[in-house]
Amino acid sequence: MTDSPDSPHGVGSPRENDPPTGTGSPPGTGPRLGVDTVPEGDVVHRSALRLGRALDGRVLTRSDFRVPRHSTADLTGRAVLETVSRGKHLLTRVEGGLTVHTHLRMEGSWQISPAGRRLPGGDVVRLVLANAEWQAAGVRLSMVDLVSTEEEGRLVGHLGPDLLGEDWDETEAVRRLARRPETSIGVALLDQRNLAGIGTIYRAETLFLAGVSPWRPVGAVEDLGAIVSIARRLMDANKERPSRTTTGDLRPGRGTWVYGRAGRPCLRCGRRISRGEMGAQPQERLIVWCRHCQPEQPTG
Ligand SMILES: [Zn+2]
Repeated sequence: MTDSPDSPHGVGSPRENDPPTGTGSPPGTGPRLGVDTVPEGDVVHRSALRLGRALDGRVLTRSDFRVPRHSTADLTGRAVLETVSRGKHLLTRVEGGLTVHTHLRMEGSWQISPAGRRLPGGDVVRLVLANAEWQAAGVRLSMVDLVSTEEEGRLVGHLGPDLLGEDWDETEAVRRLARRPETSIGVALLDQRNLAGIGTIYRAETLFLAGVSPWRPVGAVEDLGAIVSIARRLMDANKERPSRTTTGDLRPGRGTWVYGRAGRPCLRCGRRISRGEMGAQPQERLIVWCRHCQPEQPTG
């Protein structure tokens, strides 16, 4: 695992959204979009940790912004202070009061390798940050921005409590969810203004475990706190795992209750898992659920 992004400190595994780099992946091949790799709060959190291990406290010897807006930006000579995640956003703070803001969306990743290795080909790299020892290549990032650190609030200030944040506040997350009682709980959980970090996988798994249909209006959910606390527990349990599981089973294909299992038998009741589309965000609308285990109306 010489190319593992975690190798600066020798922990972890090279799986997840960081295939070993330097081997020159063929153009157009991205990370496999599977249960393990779609960036939700846990993956973003781990990306921040891995970026931190490679970049924190080291002076940048290279910065290459391959986005038109910042193509002339140059951070060479500045030390990286830290990278933090806020929900699904990454904030890399550098000396001189600057912050690099990136977002992985559905298929982005940070690939970390020893400095000087070949970067992924195929025009997929949006940003390179490197020091004398390590290079971090932002691949297929949906957002690359450079702002003053003071402006971070403008970028992430709208977010609800971060499920993996040190300032996690369940009461506040519940309060925000409850503001729109007519919204379906499935839509409300993906709205990062309510709570930050959930994507389609954790939404589906959380609602299954809570026994609540994604289509049930927030106002008809008896215990929002229970739902929020399940989401937090699932994500926290996975934040340092290279392979995501919500069932506790790490074997391939056994890691989820409903996500990725549409049309197959429910692991609890044996009935067929349903799938549908929900919400307005074009990339985040797949919903899968069990009509039997997750009733649309509260039961007795
Ligand atoms: Zn079921």
